[in-house]
Amino acid sequence: MNERPAIVIIGSGFAGLGMAIQLKKAGFHDFAILEKCAELGGTWRDNTYPGCACDVPSHMYSYSFELNPRWSRMFAPQQEIWDYMRRVAAKYDLERHIRYGAEVESMEWDDAAGHWDVSLAGGDVVRGRAVVSGVGALHIPSVPDLPGLARFTGKTFHSAQWDHDYDLTGKRVAVIGTGASAVQFVPQIAERVDRLHLFQRTPPWVQPKPDFSFSRPFQGALERVPGATRALRNTIYWGLETRAVGFALDPRLAKPLERMALRHIERQIPDPELRAKVTPDYTFGCKRGLLSNDYYPALTRPNVDLVTDGITEIRERSVVTADGTEHEVDAIIFGTGFKVVDALADLRIVGRGGLKIQERWRDGIEAHHGITLPGFPNFFMLLGPNTGLGHNSVVFMIEQQVAHVMSCLKLLAEHGAGTIEPTETALRRFNDRIHRRLRKAVWNEGGCDSWYLDENGVNRTLWPGFTFEYWAGTRRARARDYVLR
Ligand code: NAP
Repeated sequence: MNERPAIVIIGSGFAGLGMAIQLKKAGFHDFAILEKCAELGGTWRDNTYPGCACDVPSHMYSYSFELNPRWSRMFAPQQEIWDYMRRVAAKYDLERHIRYGAEVESMEWDDAAGHWDVSLAGGDVVRGRAVVSGVGALHIPSVPDLPGLARFTGKTFHSAQWDHDYDLTGKRVAVIGTGASAVQFVPQIAERVDRLHLFQRTPPWVQPKPDFSFSRPFQGALERVPGATRALRNTIYWGLETRAVGFALDPRLAKPLERMALRHIERQIPDPELRAKVTPDYTFGCKRGLLSNDYYPALTRPNVDLVTDGITEIRERSVVTADGTEHEVDAIIFGTGFKVVDALADLRIVGRGGLKIQERWRDGIEAHHGITLPGFPNFFMLLGPNTGLGHNSVVFMIEQQVAHVMSCLKLLAEHGAGTIEPTETALRRFNDRIHRRLRKAVWNEGGCDSWYLDENGVNRTLWPGFTFEYWAGTRRARARDYVLR
């Protein structure tokens, strides 16, 4: 079936749904959402590992126009966030716009006709005058190519593809990775497994998680008192923004956070040897700071072994480390994160004159405000280059980007134009500014390596400042920054 909606949205996570809702609110209904899976929800549909929850307070990690006074906890679990998304999608009657099982294989701009041909796996082509990509950055699981991995005869899976049919009870399990996902599922499975070998390459900075449930009377009060939920959200927003002072203003301002994390280790880990193993040697904030109250206690369990020697080989039933130890296991779980830069750079997107996005991005991924790109008319990216966050809610960033796309569409209408794309000057000005800031920031200067940086050590993922700076810069698309044809 070939379709011709005016606007094609790719993905039905927070970004894709947020875009669709604003289109509808503006009275625009001629759009289609292409979703590769059989259900909506993006990250919050895919990640179902035990203990999966948001590490940003839920009153902030939700749409500003769909406040939810009924969040059960400060940091809601995955199922509740996914339910919220489905509820919002139903409220705005989005289901009828979503085409499930529609995996985008490529996109090509037809300049003569003024539309994008979006080709799907299976051969269908969806034709749209504009495309909004809401594919996100954290959806392609990254599994390291460890020597001998193919020989392993036990069970393996990635945290984002959790196999709930595989019973871990009484098993000897290897977990590789100690990032944001692992610190959530390690405490959950540690109680069930016979032995857990946790392979840590770099220790994360972990802070106490200010998590608690909201009582029914409190939720009722939020619902009844006008402005109460909004006030709570605003308080959380400004609280989270203060975490940016360390990289946006002065690294010395992050020192109290580092001290708090060190005290967390001292309080929760009595053994000096284990303390030393989990204490990072890089500046706080260089990698994403984590929140957990049960991760360190899990490491002190007698059946948990924190392994810091590098993995050299995988054998039929074991993981071998550099010190020569062979750790026998029945299963390997990869908490090794996602292919972040590739999530955008691997897309087959061909702009005006046959220009492939990979050619455009030969020196690294970039976009004007992280959203638009010269040579790619009417193409908008949500959570595109340099718009990720380590300190606040990305749903906030998505909302600013959606507003910017709406503003671009308004410019098109006002100018009676058919296409919009940014000028090279606007792109350069925006990127020069943020990269000047990034070069001196903690992610480059903090003494760590992270997925925030590309293979040339350039930060292509994070927004370098306060989120209100991004809001101020994007809230209106300025005609002089764009070519309107
Ligand atoms: P991650 O934070 O990127 O962590 C990956 C872990 O795997 C790191 O400890 C890394 O070590 C390790 N690793 C990677 N390759 C390895 C290799 N070849 N050998 C040994 N160790 C290896 O991944 P994630 O935990 O899946 O989280 C990804 C992102 O998802 C987060 O940063 C966050 O943005 C998001 N997330 C959010 C939440 C939430 O609550 N909102 C929850 C989970 C995830 P190194 O540090 O040495 O590279």
